[in-house]
Amino acid sequence: MSAVALRGVRFAYGEGAFALDLPEWTVAVGSRVGVVGPSGCGKSTLLGLISGTLTPDAGTVQVGGAALHDMSERARRAWRLRHVGFVFQDFPLVDYLDVLDNVLLPFRLDATLALDDAARARGVALLDELGLGAYRSRSPFHLSQGERQRVAIARALVTQPSIVLADEPTTGLDAARADDVMALLDALVRDRGTTLVMVTHDLRMQDRFDAVLTLGVRP
Ligand code: ADP
Repeated sequence: MSAVALRGVRFAYGEGAFALDLPEWTVAVGSRVGVVGPSGCGKSTLLGLISGTLTPDAGTVQVGGAALHDMSERARRAWRLRHVGFVFQDFPLVDYLDVLDNVLLPFRLDATLALDDAARARGVALLDELGLGAYRSRSPFHLSQGERQRVAIARALVTQPSIVLADEPTTGLDAARADDVMALLDALVRDRGTTLVMVTHDLRMQDRFDAVLTLGVRP
C-alpha cells in the first residue's frame, strides 16, 4: 500500500489563477520524498492536501489508508493530530513551557491522545537522541535556531505519526546545521518506518531523497 496516493487531483483557491493538477502521485511507505519547484508552484498547497487542511475540488487523496476527500473537516482534524507530524522552518515554541512540555504539546491539543508515562518517556528519549537532554527542563527562549528546530522535530515525532510533513526545515540554516537536521530527520524516520514528505528549495538536500516531485508554474 502507498503511504500517499493522489489521483486525478485538482485544486484551486476560489477563482484565483493558481491551480494544482496531479493526475497521479504516490509515495511508498517508509520512503523519503522531496517536493521541489519555484516559489508559488503549489508545494505548501500539496502539503495542505496531504494533511487534510485543504480538500481537492476533484480527485481522491488517500493517506495511510484514510480517504481524506471523503471525510468531514472534524474527522480530518482528528486524523491529522494522530497520524501527521509537522516540521516547519520556523516552528513556534512556547517560551513559558519548558522544552519537554513543548515536545509534548500535541497531547494538550487533542484530548484523545493520552499523555501517559509512555508518551513522556518517548519525549525524553527523543530529546536525548537529538542531543537536547540537558535542556529538558529549561525554557526554549535561549535556544539557538538549530536547537529550536530539533525541538520541533522531537514534537513532530512524539505522537509516532505514520507520516512526517516538513516544509523547508533546512532553509536558513548553514550547510553544517542543515545537514545535521536532515540527517537526524532521516535517521528518526528510517528507524521508525515513517514516511517523510519534505518541501524544499534547498538543492543541497536533493540527494537524500528516494524520489523527488518537481512542481512547475503553469504558463
Ligand atoms: P509554494 O509553497 O510552492 O510557494 P503555495 O502552495 O504556497 O506555493 O501557493 C501556490 C499559489 O497559491 C500561489 O500563487 C499563492 O499565492 C496562492 N495561494 C496560496 N495560499 C492561498 C490562499 N489561502 N488563497 C489564495 N491563494 C493562495
